[in-house]
Amino acid sequence: MSDQGDKLFGGIEAGGTKFNCIVGSGPDDVRAQARFETTTPEETISQVVRFFDGWQVEHGPLSGVGLGSFGPVDLDPASATYGHITSTPKPGWCDTDILSAIRQGLGVPVAFDTDVNCAGLGEWQWGRGQGTSVMAYLTVGTGIGGGLLVNGRPVHGLIHPEMGHVPLLRHRDDKAADGVCPAHGNCAEGLASGTAIRARWGRILSQFEPSHPAYNVVADYIAQLCVMLTFLCSPERIIIGGGVMETTGLHGLIAMKTKEKLGGYLQGEVMKGDLTDYIVAPGLGARAGSLGALVLAKTV
Ligand code: ZN
Repeated sequence: MSDQGDKLFGGIEAGGTKFNCIVGSGPDDVRAQARFETTTPEETISQVVRFFDGWQVEHGPLSGVGLGSFGPVDLDPASATYGHITSTPKPGWCDTDILSAIRQGLGVPVAFDTDVNCAGLGEWQWGRGQGTSVMAYLTVGTGIGGGLLVNGRPVHGLIHPEMGHVPLLRHRDDKAADGVCPAHGNCAEGLASGTAIRARWGRILSQFEPSHPAYNVVADYIAQLCVMLTFLCSPERIIIGGGVMETTGLHGLIAMKTKEKLGGYLQGEVMKGDLTDYIVAPGLGARAGSLGALVLAKTV
């Protein structure tokens, strides 16, 4: 990115709960930031446009904006619905042309990808994904999502990965009814997302006593996902962020269970250890998504 000089970019992490917006060029150069609740498309998008517009009026035009959105989204530039949030269960957001709304509102080029791919980009550029050729980024929050980066480029393909919706085996200590995903029930999101945890146990994970069985059950589910990712995609690192992962000790417990479930099958230096350098928290913390949107913006 050295040819970008001192250009400034906008980054938008458009999440299902909130939109995080920043202006800058990297983690050490953030000029402005704002956060808006995700309400209706009209209200939230106009708040975002006002924020960047206000900045541009004062400081001049941005060189580009990166938009990482919750989804599913249409990432195919040849498609009539490119840039749309498509079939989301989020009320009011189905079939929202978020890309056009932001592009027309700001009058600058806007690059588009998923929110988790953006977080992955941020980690690849400046966080724990640096130096990897294949890395996975998972977020475990209200929902579960994941992105796969190969040589710093997010995988799109058919649509884009939807890692939160792979089916999982039920844990023997999990006696609750089916998971909460309306499409699949017992997928990862249906069993281990913040929404699923609250539906099962009535609280968020960090509010339980450390001995509560919920830790074990949730860690088991996320470890199942990590095992699948490891066998299917061979990432050099799995970075897991999101609200649920702010629970103390959860990364370590998932690493331990992943190691058990891999069954010693994979060789190599990384696999010899306790996997705490393999399954890690984002180096950029909660800023991974918005900073990653800056990385995306530089591709416009
Ligand atoms: Zn699902």
